[in-house]
Amino acid sequence: MIVVMKSGATEEQIKEVENKLHELGFRTQVIHGTDKRVIGAIGDKRHLNLRFIELLPGVERAIPILRPFKLASREARPENTIVNIDGVTIGGPEITVIAGPCAVESREQLLETARAIKSMGCKILRGGAFKPRTSPYSFQGLEEEGLRLLAEAKEDTGLKIVTEVLDAQDVELVSSYTDIMQVGARNMQNFKLLKALGRLGKPVVLKRGLSATVEEWLMAAEYIMVEGNPNVILCERGIRTFEPYTRNTLDLSAVALVKQLSHLPVIVDPSHGTGRRDLVSPMAKAAVVAGADGLLIEAHIRPDEALSDGAQSLDMEGLARVLSELEDVARVAGRTFTGTGALNRRVPSS
Ligand code: PEP
Ligand code: MN
Repeated sequence: MIVVMKSGATEEQIKEVENKLHELGFRTQVIHGTDKRVIGAIGDKRHLNLRFIELLPGVERAIPILRPFKLASREARPENTIVNIDGVTIGGPEITVIAGPCAVESREQLLETARAIKSMGCKILRGGAFKPRTSPYSFQGLEEEGLRLLAEAKEDTGLKIVTEVLDAQDVELVSSYTDIMQVGARNMQNFKLLKALGRLGKPVVLKRGLSATVEEWLMAAEYIMVEGNPNVILCERGIRTFEPYTRNTLDLSAVALVKQLSHLPVIVDPSHGTGRRDLVSPMAKAAVVAGADGLLIEAHIRPDEALSDGAQSLDMEGLARVLSELEDVARVAGRTFTGTGALNRRVPSS
């Protein structure tokens, strides 16, 4: 259930409604809209008379939410959530691009990448320090040394950082270096990790599981939100299908659908979504048209030498070309993408 408070409702009135709901066995969370505040109430509403809640001072309406995801649902918050990472936003009018290597491999690799992507208008640097690899014999990441290099790249360029956390035990360590915590596809239903990130409160990029339904994905977001963290960024990264020509099948219908079902920002990862660098550009553009709020793109200074995911990684020139094409697409989609002016000067059109 959600309780919509009147525009002028006071803090005391909100507290009073929360206290009443707690007495009735509900957990509550206040959601801040631009105009009104809404109290999300999670619990068994079967015996609750909504009329009684509506009579409390300051309350405008009480609305039952029938979907299993509550705090993540559009009903709970009709306006888009904009996640703000110290001034860099995801979910507003601007398309936010996150780029960088699959894995942090060396200081030279990361700093060179960070400087290049910054000059292209990207706002956030990605790079895995803890890598979830299918084979235990594959490169597992530089771990804390990788995190240190990410922090150095941030210091050097001013870019924000996103990196994956594989385990609830590592939350504190990873959080001490990064701005955004990434939950990988393989961990989407690691409920202990989701709860820990909910308590942490830092923005989370929540990737869709390899075979997760849209509802399971939104329920995973709910796990983070119900612990008190509203800063969830959903990331569509492709799902497993019968198609072998691509690594995954990028589900762009899920992007348009989730934008209806939820107020949370949605970004798209065309790199893992296809596994092929030649498909990153068309899928990035299609994602923006489908309503994505941002993109997560793998890029490497020498993709053929990458220790992971080289086949889907663009080189710096390739990334610049993709981004230079985005400005027009963003405009058609009613969005903005800044930084491509510099790009158009850098990269001759082919
Ligand atoms: C990644 O972003 O490098 C990654 C491992 O992605 P996913 O969890 O989507 O496979
Ligand atoms: Mn990768």
